Amino acid sequence: MRQAYIIGIDIGGTDIKAGLFDKNGDIREWRKVTSAVEKGKNVVLKRIKTLVKKFEENRVNILPVVGVAVAGIIDKKREYIIHSPNLQGWDSFDIKSALEKRLERDVVIENDANTAALAELWRGEGRKLKNFMLITLGTGLGSGLVINRKLWIGEDGSAAEMGHTKIVLGGLRCGCGARGCLEMYSSSQAIERIVKNVLSKKVDTILRIDSHTKTVSPKIVYKAAKKGDEVAINIYREISRYLGVAIANVIYLLGIKSFILSGGISNAYDLFIPFLKAEVSKNLFYPFSEGFQILKGKLGNRAGATGAAYLALQVVKKRKQQGKKR
Ligand SMILES: [Zn+2]
Repeated sequence: MRQAYIIGIDIGGTDIKAGLFDKNGDIREWRKVTSAVEKGKNVVLKRIKTLVKKFEENRVNILPVVGVAVAGIIDKKREYIIHSPNLQGWDSFDIKSALEKRLERDVVIENDANTAALAELWRGEGRKLKNFMLITLGTGLGSGLVINRKLWIGEDGSAAEMGHTKIVLGGLRCGCGARGCLEMYSSSQAIERIVKNVLSKKVDTILRIDSHTKTVSPKIVYKAAKKGDEVAINIYREISRYLGVAIANVIYLLGIKSFILSGGISNAYDLFIPFLKAEVSKNLFYPFSEGFQILKGKLGNRAGATGAAYLALQVVKKRKQQGKKR
């Protein structure tokens, strides 16, 4: 393949991120706009088209397939969104056709946690791993499973939704409608709930709710924990307890030994990981209790778009192979 460029796009609830990559996965151009989901699908689609057009203005040799990561559960054929808490009003929407029509290019879509896993496989901590699970800790908890260096999507395409596995019987109500899902106990919304709960009691802490946004960002908790604030440190202990059980269950169930953390909370890796490793270990018997690793993802907030580009590249390669066989 001659030097060619690949477009990878990540449609999230807040931003649309788009990258122009070379075939080694190096970013040549990077663009970001707000998603404006509240303005409706057409506005979002138009914004994506504008991003792609800007790439096309500067380069001619762009692959005919565009990779798109979506924050939501998608169907097995990767054509429409089954459910997305971040892209409200997009449920049952045939996003593939809509984008292909607008962009006049073929489009391959995938769940954003899955593309983040592919990004680590291509360019990050997963490069030398055969099997691993990627866990993104953001507002929710997403995950992507790589087995034999391939994405495992399960029989109906929705595999590795670890955020909705149940960790507390009859527990807190999740955005999905069920109770006790892991993402209610181990995510930035969990951190926020715990902080609000703590601050409603008389405790000695430097943690405060931001008076403008009325929220507590994971960054505030991280800074407080770094200063030795016991309350903030305990928050990492608490979210680790739940995530530790979930990871130990995956180890017993699948025999996977490597986990890669990504998403906003993973920036607190140095504080958080000792607790998490101890919790995972506590829930496993020997030798499983020692034979696992938890790594910090390398791709940061570019993981979704990077993995989407990787996926597009795979589709083009496959087509070439099939073309040769004919
Ligand atoms: Zn749920």
